[in-house]
Amino acid sequence: MPIEGEFPNNSYVVPLDNTLSNSHEVQKQSYFDNSNITDSENNLFHIRQEVSDEYAEPHEKPWIIGYSGGKDSTLVLHLVIEHLVSLPRSERVRPIHVVANDTLVESPLVMAHVKSVLNEIKKAVLAFDLPIVVNITSPDIDQTFWVNLIGRGYPTPNRNFRWCTDRMKIRPTSTYIREQAKISGEVILLLGVRRNESRARAASAAKYDNGSRLNQHNSLPGCYVFRPILELETEDVWEFLALNKPPWGGSHQRLIQLYREAGGGECPVVTSLQDAPSCGTTSSRFGCWTCTVVEKDKSLTGFVDSGFEQFLPLLNFRDWLIEIRNEPERRLARRRNGRVTITNKGIFVPGPFNMSTRHEILDRLLDLQSQSKMDLIQQTEIDRIRELWVEDVIVSAERNLKVQRSLGVNVNHA
Ligand code: SF4
Repeated sequence: MPIEGEFPNNSYVVPLDNTLSNSHEVQKQSYFDNSNITDSENNLFHIRQEVSDEYAEPHEKPWIIGYSGGKDSTLVLHLVIEHLVSLPRSERVRPIHVVANDTLVESPLVMAHVKSVLNEIKKAVLAFDLPIVVNITSPDIDQTFWVNLIGRGYPTPNRNFRWCTDRMKIRPTSTYIREQAKISGEVILLLGVRRNESRARAASAAKYDNGSRLNQHNSLPGCYVFRPILELETEDVWEFLALNKPPWGGSHQRLIQLYREAGGGECPVVTSLQDAPSCGTTSSRFGCWTCTVVEKDKSLTGFVDSGFEQFLPLLNFRDWLIEIRNEPERRLARRRNGRVTITNKGIFVPGPFNMSTRHEILDRLLDLQSQSKMDLIQQTEIDRIRELWVEDVIVSAERNLKVQRSLGVNVNHA
């Protein structure tokens, strides 16, 4: 086992400094030499081989790497960029998109880490002349957490009404993939999925097991899925990240520290609801700071326990959102479509938050934003929320008018 500062036999180090402008100058130790290596290194050897073989396929379908900031997608990113850097420029023919998604309510420390890594990669792209573009997707302003919660009055998401994952994660990433597939004909999506991450991930992974390296995505036409680290064990991932410096410079120590501080798992890149079972569960601790799908938040609590006390007010705000969710006096009787819902069992299902509660949530959120000095809501979201309020008032007035007319009330006031 190498000591800190050294590297396993089958790895290499790419110093990112001004002196390095050509891949041939990379310090490289026999990329495919697998003599005298451990099981873990052997696994990595085969993964590197797969990445290399797939990249060398005789077509130019772009690769899209879904980067969540977590350990697994970091490893995929590391291996791909490492491979690109090892190639002569003439062989770096396949364009690669590195895509992260910002739900706009991400855990602040995680998002800061994601942005910092993406900036490092952008520098590496220039330094090494790599065919990589870096992008951050985010939900349509009309579909953000705050616009739906405060603007439309949707009750905070829970296990039965998890309206957030599709709008805030799946749609932005899927739209990006569809656009690229339209431009290029077909694309290959690289995911850091591992079978042993959880039972749910194993079940999700099994859906794509067609025996070949690439699998057609089950809901995105023209998109193939490549999961290079599918069979890797968790300890192999950590060992690799601990012992290898990223090809874009720096180290993976900040990532390792983040996991320690958050105390656990991650919210992976998701492109379908089947991929998303861990989003908003107790095993996912890197998700949105507002996540009310989990009974007890793990990520913010982990950070607060690790000394980031500035997040305590956010944690309290999120807990308050859960508290008020089912208070009957805060909810309208009718749903947004005007219907009153009573289930087959005779249970009344209340509608969205009423206007005064929506105003109260926005006021409290703006207070929290100014006290915490963190960007918690964007002005464009506030503008859209106000538009929705006006629309709701008009719809509600028209609905009342209609009811009064149907009851024969004279409503033609001067
Ligand atoms: S982390 Fe929670 S709030 Fe965010 S998308 Fe997933 S389930 Fe929804």
